[in-house]
Amino acid sequence: MTTEERFDKFSEMIRERNKVMNLTSIVDVHEIEVKHFEDSLSIVPIIDKYSGKGERTSVRVIDIGTGAGFPGIPVKIVCEDLEVTLMDSVGKKVDFVNDVIRELKLDKAVAIHGRAEDYAHKTEFREVYDIATARAVAALPVLCEYCLPFLKVGGIFIAMKGGESEDIGSAQKALEILGGEVIDEIRFELGEDKFKRRIIVVKKVKTTLAKYPRKAGKPAQNPL
Ligand code: SAM
Repeated sequence: MTTEERFDKFSEMIRERNKVMNLTSIVDVHEIEVKHFEDSLSIVPIIDKYSGKGERTSVRVIDIGTGAGFPGIPVKIVCEDLEVTLMDSVGKKVDFVNDVIRELKLDKAVAIHGRAEDYAHKTEFREVYDIATARAVAALPVLCEYCLPFLKVGGIFIAMKGGESEDIGSAQKALEILGGEVIDEIRFELGEDKFKRRIIVVKKVKTTLAKYPRKAGKPAQNPL
C-alpha cells in the first residue's frame, strides 16, 4: 500500500467505526486530515532530530493514550521503519487501532490495552523506549509520570499540547523527581485556521525511581 492509500483507508475506518462507537469527535474528512493527520505528523522532525540515531530503523516509540491512534498511526505510516507501541486504557479503542494496523499492513506496530501506570512497571516496557509521546491525555506533570518511566536514559518525551496549555514550571517538581529536563519547546499554527499548537520536548537525564509511576489513578488525582 502507498502512504496515500494508507491515510485514505485510515480516514475511512475512523468515519465508519465512529458510527458505532465514540472514537473521536472529529469526523469531517478535511478536519481529520488537518487536526488528526497533520497535527500528528508535526512530531516527525522532532523524532528525527532528537532520537540520536541518525536513522529510524532501531528507534522504539510508545504513544500513551493513543485513542484512535494519534499521533502514533500517522507517524508510523510516514516513518515505516520505526517500531511503534500504542497504548490506551479503553479496550474498544485498542481493538480499533489493532484493526487499523492489520488493514494498513503496518509491521513493527502493536496496540496494547492497559494503563500507563501498570505497564510502566513491566520489565519488557520499562526504560526500553527511545521516544515516548502523548497528545491530549493529561496535564504535563501527570504526563511526565506516565511517560518518563518507559524511556531509556537519554530518551525523549514529546508532549503535544494546545497553544494555551499550562506553564512548564508546573511540571518542574515532577521532572526533578522522575529524571527529566525540558530541552525544547516548539509553537506552531496548524492548518488554514491557524489552530495554536505547542510541543514540549523532555529529555530523560537519569533513571526513574522504581516507585514511579504510582498506582493507577494516583498521578492524575494527586500530580507530583
Ligand atoms: N491521543 C489521542 C488523540 O490525541 O486523539 C486520544 C486523546 S483522548 C482525549 C485521551 C486518551 O488517553 C483516551 O483514549 C484515554 O482512554 C487515554 N488515557 C487516559 N489516561 C490513560 C492512562 N493512564 N493510560 C493509558 N491511556 C490513558
